[in-house]
Amino acid sequence: MPMPVGKMHSFKSLENIKNSYIERIHQVSDERKKGKKSVGTFCLFVPDEIIFAAGADRMILCGGKNDTVSIAEQYLPRNICPLVKSSFGSIVNDGCSGIKSCSHFSMVDMIVAENTCDSKKKMYELLDNYVPTYVIDLPQRPDTPEAMRYFLSELEKFRDAMEQLTGNKVTDERLKEEIRSSNETRKLLHKLYELRKRDPSPISGIEVLKILQKQYFLSPDKLKEYLRELINEVESTEPEQVHKPRIMISGCPMPGGNTKVPAIIESKGGAIVAEESCTGTRSFWDMVDENKDHMLALAERYIKIPCSCMSPNERRIDNILELAREFKVDGVVYYTLQFCHGYNIEKYKVQQALKKAGIPMLSIETDYSDSDVEQIGLRVDAFLEMIS
Ligand code: SF4
Ligand code: SF4
Repeated sequence: MPMPVGKMHSFKSLENIKNSYIERIHQVSDERKKGKKSVGTFCLFVPDEIIFAAGADRMILCGGKNDTVSIAEQYLPRNICPLVKSSFGSIVNDGCSGIKSCSHFSMVDMIVAENTCDSKKKMYELLDNYVPTYVIDLPQRPDTPEAMRYFLSELEKFRDAMEQLTGNKVTDERLKEEIRSSNETRKLLHKLYELRKRDPSPISGIEVLKILQKQYFLSPDKLKEYLRELINEVESTEPEQVHKPRIMISGCPMPGGNTKVPAIIESKGGAIVAEESCTGTRSFWDMVDENKDHMLALAERYIKIPCSCMSPNERRIDNILELAREFKVDGVVYYTLQFCHGYNIEKYKVQQALKKAGIPMLSIETDYSDSDVEQIGLRVDAFLEMIS
């Protein structure tokens, strides 16, 4: 995989995050031995606050590695998105392939899923054969009052399911504390993104992605600790005064193991300054209102996530334009995974809106393999030259 060009900083906190893997696995494993339940998730629509308020832990199960895609293809059609194939492959892998199956998966007592895209929905039905899988149903037209009422009732059912799993009551006090804690994490991420508005940005996109990919793996306290360390380091960094085209990535998530497109962009001299993605702003942009009924506040915040599974999804278009202006981007790279119909089709609207706003866009549709790295590199080169 290409490496970013230019002088790279060496943020100690990022090294700590990189080395946190084993410690976290041991932490979850030790706590499970003492009776604490652990929940696996795949999507931003599952409110962490309810899981933590019930006294359970949470591990992200999304796959970003190419190695396990071929394993999934023994069970699933080839023409579904690599994120689903990679996740499923790492879960069902029985070791025959020589690739170790996902260690997080063996540590969850329940999967908490959500009705989002078709591939995921159908994968969840299969996963229920391996681990009990609870599905939160999502209304698909989020702007209607009926949708809010329905989503709130779904979250209440989910809260009850968590209470049943853990044997703990989700009290108002516990919810209040978890909402405050998650909002604090969101504020730290906002602070980090504020620093990226500087020109030049003091931190590369690949470096930010490293922490974003770990945000649903680390414990909330560790995540906050690492974010504070990173922010302190970044604040005192003097970046090289070299102008690089400022890029925003918009589109599909990039779970751990997948850094392909950002690595290409930064190796060609682009500076990624924002990501409109679930491994980006979508995960933390909106706060939960701390001055309302807690369940209602959670429903209001989570239903607003501008995922392409929602229809209509004008909120996402507005958000992309707002981010492009705030982060003063020179161009947008629209990133989609093959066979992700939602983000692929929504590209048309995004392209129209960006064109109207005079912001150039490059569309990249890819998978997790390295087969198109060279070809993407050529297109990124031409795009960066055009916007420089
Ligand atoms: S893109 Fe949509 S379905 Fe995928 S993780 Fe994000 S919110 Fe969930
Ligand atoms: S990338 Fe697209 S197709 Fe794949 S899981 Fe996410 S929403 Fe579904």
